[in-house]
Amino acid sequence: MKLLLFLTALVAGVLGEKTFIGEQVLRIKASNGDQIVQLQDLQSLAHLQLDFWTNPLNPEIPVDVRVPFESLQSVKIYLESNNIDYSIMIEDLQEVINAEKQEMISNERKERNSGAFNYGAYHTLDNLYRAIDAIMLDYKSLVSKQLIGHSYEGRPLYVIKFSTGANRPGIWIDAGIHSREWVTQATALWTAHKLSSEYGKDAFVTSLLNNYDVFLLPVTNPDGYVFTHTTNRMWRKTRSIRSGSPCVGVDPNRNWNAGFGGPGASSNPCSDSYFGPKAESEVEVKAVADFIRGHGNIKGFISIHSYSQLLLFPYGYTCTKPADFEELTEVGNAAAMELRSLYGTQYKVGTICSTIYQASGGSIDWTYDIGIKYSFAFELRDTGRYGFLLPANQILPTAQETWLGLKKILEHIRDNPY
Ligand SMILES: [Zn+2]
Repeated sequence: MKLLLFLTALVAGVLGEKTFIGEQVLRIKASNGDQIVQLQDLQSLAHLQLDFWTNPLNPEIPVDVRVPFESLQSVKIYLESNNIDYSIMIEDLQEVINAEKQEMISNERKERNSGAFNYGAYHTLDNLYRAIDAIMLDYKSLVSKQLIGHSYEGRPLYVIKFSTGANRPGIWIDAGIHSREWVTQATALWTAHKLSSEYGKDAFVTSLLNNYDVFLLPVTNPDGYVFTHTTNRMWRKTRSIRSGSPCVGVDPNRNWNAGFGGPGASSNPCSDSYFGPKAESEVEVKAVADFIRGHGNIKGFISIHSYSQLLLFPYGYTCTKPADFEELTEVGNAAAMELRSLYGTQYKVGTICSTIYQASGGSIDWTYDIGIKYSFAFELRDTGRYGFLLPANQILPTAQETWLGLKKILEHIRDNPY
């Protein structure tokens, strides 16, 4: 097995895929504001090539950072000399990635033999798109596919539409705006499966779809998603290119016209949270925003991210509470309680600013400000053991518990028209 994994890594390297041999993910616990500042200093050292999975802004939130092999020693010395607490979460990132690859390969073999889509596995974009078509064929009268635009590299952006009649108000759900958050695209597919298979069987799903259209975009950033499969598993941004910049991509969840360019977003095109040359500069973001504006009657907007186990609502660009703070807190808490009832998974609930930190230009702030009261973002499993590399055997449990939380929010929307 070890030899096989080694060979996989070798082949990957030869094919031009980025490898992460010897890279570690450290969990750093700052004990006060001074140490947060020291971590921010560390973050500003571009030559170390650190990838902060969570940002040093709030001493209550551990900082998870991916450290290339070459930088490990300097980072550990820096932390130790400043008395900052840390532990090693992932010893060798490439080993985790190899295991994920092996899992995908053996699943593809199984799916070829059985002819059935396995919701508990990770898939390439082509296979996800094929699964969408299969759902459409199985539930022709309920499910259709709507092309809302194309990605920067020209890939179609498909929204799955669940509708039982004309002129219904709409509810929007999206996933995968950050491409490396693989459990989110998988969870979206499972959600599509539940919405289609339970209509006419489950009383709630039936009444929901008799009163609302649901629009589900499982892969909001397909270019990034393909790139995570072919070239760099850790890719987060879009793949847009700007003349004069050496770096590719914009953070598509800093690119919305809500507090655009403010705190918690970067003006540096090489940063993973680069907000872009202007709001909606990214065609993927503009396609969704155009769809929401064009529809004109969207009543709920739910965006699925990972990881950290949070259920968030506006605002992120400001720490001011939204007008509907009490109601959103109540709905969020009820949803988190439902979610927890299945496997005991604990979620924190609150505004983006109070729960993680200030972050500007995010989608749910924009939708809330244009009048979509029920705007939420999930950060799915886990709390950092695997981070973005959640093992495939946790996909279904994650998707199932999320479905319970999601249903609670949808139920509240159904029962509280506005
Ligand atoms: Zn995300």
